[in-house]
Amino acid sequence: MNHACAIYPGSFDPVTNGHLDLIERGVKMFDHLIVAVLRNAEKEPLFSVAERVEMLRDVTSHFPTVEVDVFEGLLVDYARQRGAGVILRGIRAISDYEYELQMALMNRKLEPALETVFMMPALSYGFLSARLVREIARLGGPLKGMVPPQVETRLRAKVA
Ligand code: ADP
Repeated sequence: MNHACAIYPGSFDPVTNGHLDLIERGVKMFDHLIVAVLRNAEKEPLFSVAERVEMLRDVTSHFPTVEVDVFEGLLVDYARQRGAGVILRGIRAISDYEYELQMALMNRKLEPALETVFMMPALSYGFLSARLVREIARLGGPLKGMVPPQVETRLRAKVA
């Protein structure tokens, strides 16, 4: 497993400027960054996996080392299959910490060779989550500075 190759997994429903902040930081640290959209049969998403992948590809197209992919099942299996040695995750507030710690320790138990790396976003994105973005969009509120313009357009169309 290659520690110069990292996977950034998530729902990305939709990609926000907070996710992009993390991707930009990840690009500086790793030779190859795989942004991996989780295909989760249980969740009721706003955007389909195909739509989420399309938006992610659109907003990361200027990063030659970023790849957007889809995975299902265990993250450690996907990491092994891709030869990635690092999982990249973001921590916004203390509230993220408990869940992220639990996941990181469980993933380490399942695959000791895989390391989880946490990064903090810029302070201004510390309050931002895809869930809140979906809620604001549904209620017709302002999304400026929270998502890229293309994503805002698609959000407005989706909830119209
Ligand atoms: P969300 O929590 O916004 O629904 P995801 O489930 O797609 O997003 O999260 C994927 C990863 O991105 C998680 O590690 C999460 O902590 C991180 N993340 C999400 N939003 C931000 C943000 N604003 N700043 C930093 N990291 C973030």
